Amino acid sequence: MKKVPEILILEEIKKEDIPSVGGKGASLGEMYGIGLPVPRAFVVTAQAFRRFLGETGIEERLFAGLANLNVEDNAALEEASRKARELVLSVAIPQHLQKKIRDAYSELGNEPVVAVRSSATAEDLPDASFAGQQETYLNIQGDGDLLLSVQRCWASLYGARAIYYRAKQGFDDRSVNIAVVVQELVDAKKAGVMFTSHPVTGEPLTIIEGSWGLGEAVVSGSVSPDKYVFDHRSGQVVDRLISAKLEMVIPDGRKGTKTIEVPGDIQKSPVLTDAEVKELAKFGSIAEGHYGVPQDLEWAISGKEFYILQSRPITTIRAPVQGKPAAATAGKVLVEGQGASPGIGSGRVAMVRDIKDVGSVKEGDILVAKMTNPDMVPAMRKVAAIVTDEGGMTCHAAIVSRELGTPAVVGTKKATSVLRQGQVVTVDGEKGLVYEGKTEAPPQKEKAVAAVAAAPIITATSVKVNVSLPEAAARAGATGADGVGLLRIEHLILGLNKTPMWYIRNRKEEEFINELAGGIRIVLDAFPGKPVWVRTLDAPTDEFRNMAGGEDEPHEHNPMLGWRGIRRDLQSPDQFRLQVEAFKRLWQAGYSKLGMMFPMVSHPDEFIQAKQMMKGWGVDVENVTLGIMVEIPASAILIEDFIKAGIRFASFGTNDLIQYTIAVDRNNENVAGMYKPKHPAVLKTIDDTIQICRRYGVECSICGQAGSDPEMAEWLVEHGISSLSANIDAVAKIRDRVARTEQRMILEAARRVHAREGVQ
Ligand code: PEP
Ligand code: MG
Repeated sequence: MKKVPEILILEEIKKEDIPSVGGKGASLGEMYGIGLPVPRAFVVTAQAFRRFLGETGIEERLFAGLANLNVEDNAALEEASRKARELVLSVAIPQHLQKKIRDAYSELGNEPVVAVRSSATAEDLPDASFAGQQETYLNIQGDGDLLLSVQRCWASLYGARAIYYRAKQGFDDRSVNIAVVVQELVDAKKAGVMFTSHPVTGEPLTIIEGSWGLGEAVVSGSVSPDKYVFDHRSGQVVDRLISAKLEMVIPDGRKGTKTIEVPGDIQKSPVLTDAEVKELAKFGSIAEGHYGVPQDLEWAISGKEFYILQSRPITTIRAPVQGKPAAATAGKVLVEGQGASPGIGSGRVAMVRDIKDVGSVKEGDILVAKMTNPDMVPAMRKVAAIVTDEGGMTCHAAIVSRELGTPAVVGTKKATSVLRQGQVVTVDGEKGLVYEGKTEAPPQKEKAVAAVAAAPIITATSVKVNVSLPEAAARAGATGADGVGLLRIEHLILGLNKTPMWYIRNRKEEEFINELAGGIRIVLDAFPGKPVWVRTLDAPTDEFRNMAGGEDEPHEHNPMLGWRGIRRDLQSPDQFRLQVEAFKRLWQAGYSKLGMMFPMVSHPDEFIQAKQMMKGWGVDVENVTLGIMVEIPASAILIEDFIKAGIRFASFGTNDLIQYTIAVDRNNENVAGMYKPKHPAVLKTIDDTIQICRRYGVECSICGQAGSDPEMAEWLVEHGISSLSANIDAVAKIRDRVARTEQRMILEAARRVHAREGVQ
């Protein structure tokens, strides 16, 4: 590695310095060079990091611990990540390096408050995007905390998600370095992002989003920001949308940040004046003029001072991300069903008629069953594809296989009778076909994730991801999603193989709480700083029956309409209390972005009662994020009353909302053809609910399967939804469609204004 100083100050940095200062550091240097108002900064270079590894003697041990790691083995990945991070944090930064960092810091002023940001960089591919995978520490002050934060940034190069991403992208850990940007923290009174031009047509329309406080609230999507459109041709603000801005991020004393409620009197007032919009747009033009392509900038305003914090090219428009079409080329079609998880898998049929058969399923087999259930998850992890007789796009087999990235065809009606044990078949999970024989197509299992991990697209509508298995957290995080819109804990609990009642009866409550909190924490850690909505238990009684303790489960005529979701928790306070305790511990541990979502709510009283019970168990219910699934028509009809009862968000569970609105069992293949997500009654229910949520400034989202359909996503964005949550495999295509839809809407709005004003 070239001899480069351990510290470079902003004035010294040029864009060629990416290998030393990372993309973020180089961009700041360049922005400073073209006269943008960038807060003062210095960079602890990649060379400093490598000297730290070399001089402390930990380098070989660190890389040996990561060599030959199977990143698909979640436990091994987490363990290797933990050890690597601990190793980096276990040694002291050499004295001469400490001194250089301290000296550079004192050049910034008398103990200024700074932001300490990671900027990872690869030697052989300096512009590789590792954005968002390493840590940032805001509001740091004093030598001691600064040095610790630098070291923590270094350690974050070995977070599980970052290791996973690099392995999938084919990067050798040894060739990836990390620089740390130390920058004066602007005490922003307002901040946000800006898109300098229309990214598709290149029209000179600058779109600015802003909210109160530090920019993190806008960037993380935890607030609905104001939106302003500035037209450079007329020099006017041509459109503005003022939102109810409920939360703001502010510095928390001497360390870190905290999220507080925006004072009532300014929640709905515009963040920017027209003059400020114009001034910001001017800086945007400078950046775009310099880089030659539309830019996505982060800005902040403190008093009368404007700051530009970041500038990067808009990457909205990209080639389709799904890779080659998953067309199998094998023999005749044996059975047909619904393609529930894309990709192609070939192998020998392993018929699972009974739970006893699970043991004989081998790596690379094709699992064929009437329907899968939680006991089969270990086998589902090993197989090349899954085929079921029953079920639709939202059944157990569909959800779990999508999460595992395993091709699946569901609802074939006859796979278990037509296919034979040991027969070689090929499954096309895109088209929903099972062919005779083996295909030549390459295995597709990891393709979707590798592709979605490319450069981020910024959308105003947050695009989140659904997670069911903690082991899928790293893959979900690697999509770059804006958070988790639904974590279903029943898969985690069902995976324990004992019902919550078993733990209660056997006085093993603590064990249950730890398992649950531990599983949720894995997902939270994969989404640092981003909202993660975790749903309380929603397992129908028939799914509990095979587990220890399940013998007491009632036999219900129709479990879908039965004792599940919040109705069961309210009647089983012990079961609810254990879940609440797990959430409470995570909130207390500082996971402030954790939201709790109640399933199957049909009356505001259920929400109120749940809150009261939680309060009785010591939860500060007014200061944690509580919301509901809108999946029973009753909750849509009464949404205004729910809002008045204090929900912070509502999320459409369309899998259920559809079945309850049009009376079509979602798991019954005989009526699968009638299961219509775009049924006008469903769309009307959704639209009415969105409009009421918007009126009250309450986040309205979707986490049902319909949110993974690009057409539906487009419709939802047009109708004003605040966020969507898609399956891991669908995040990229949904993000693409959302971005296109938003840009089209902005353009159409601007054109309407022009037409009205006679500009065009
Ligand atoms: C839904 O009903 O849309 C949903 C997301 O929940 P589940 O599929 O777990 O019922
Ligand atoms: Mg549901």
